[in-house]
Amino acid sequence: MSIIFPLFNGSKGNATYIRCRNTSILIDAGCSAKQIEISMFEKNLNPSKLNSIFITHEHLDHIKGLKAFASRYKIPIYSSEGTILSLSKKCILNNKFAYYIVPSRGISVNEDLFIKPFSISHDCAEGFGYVVETKDERKIAFATDTGFVSDEIRQAVKGCDVIFIESNHDVKMLKYGIYPSYLKKRILSTLGHLSNEACAKELPYLIECGLSRIVLSHLSKQNNNSELAYQTAVLNLSKYNIKEGIDYKIMVADEINTTGKHILI
Ligand SMILES: [Zn+2]
Ligand SMILES: [Zn+2]
Repeated sequence: MSIIFPLFNGSKGNATYIRCRNTSILIDAGCSAKQIEISMFEKNLNPSKLNSIFITHEHLDHIKGLKAFASRYKIPIYSSEGTILSLSKKCILNNKFAYYIVPSRGISVNEDLFIKPFSISHDCAEGFGYVVETKDERKIAFATDTGFVSDEIRQAVKGCDVIFIESNHDVKMLKYGIYPSYLKKRILSTLGHLSNEACAKELPYLIECGLSRIVLSHLSKQNNNSELAYQTAVLNLSKYNIKEGIDYKIMVADEINTTGKHILI
């Protein structure tokens, strides 16, 4: 049995805690070190027991607290070569914690968790999504910050039990919203973020391949809301006669954050 706590999720900051037996990791550290600490303490999680932090990419909402947090607890970090280089340029790496490049074949953490990266399509140096496989062969996928779902992503996340999938914006809300046009263009591009509609489109196939829990993630505060993201996903699945509560469970990550809920798998 493994436990997952989405500590923070969305454009304001991302960090997810996963533990299998005595091994625990974070995916991203995108809030201040203090916020991550407080959130972990509230849930009785021990930061000094973390074995490693896997970083998806160098954008602030994924690394904001990384330097202070990894330095304080001496936690080794892992990411792509491009992200490590970019973190080095930003002076985030120091001699207080180790840093490694995740090999494309994946890497084992204490033989309890196996983490395999895949490429995302995003305007960063070299973004990674991750599939985390637990000792009891459960798979959790993290597929956010991607402008579209490539065949590589689809192949990588196929067969997962749980997916944190980006449902960033409602296209109409974004198009008619207050963002400046360069930002709208960036978000809508193939190197931007995944819309509710594009996310929903992926779900029937993934459920057919064994997915049972969906966590709609990285929602934009400005161009989306939980209800809309949820309705878009459920409506599309119902067209395939795939029923919520019977064939799958669905959550919106923001709501798990505020209620402090966790996922057991
Ligand atoms: Zn990003
Ligand atoms: Zn992000």
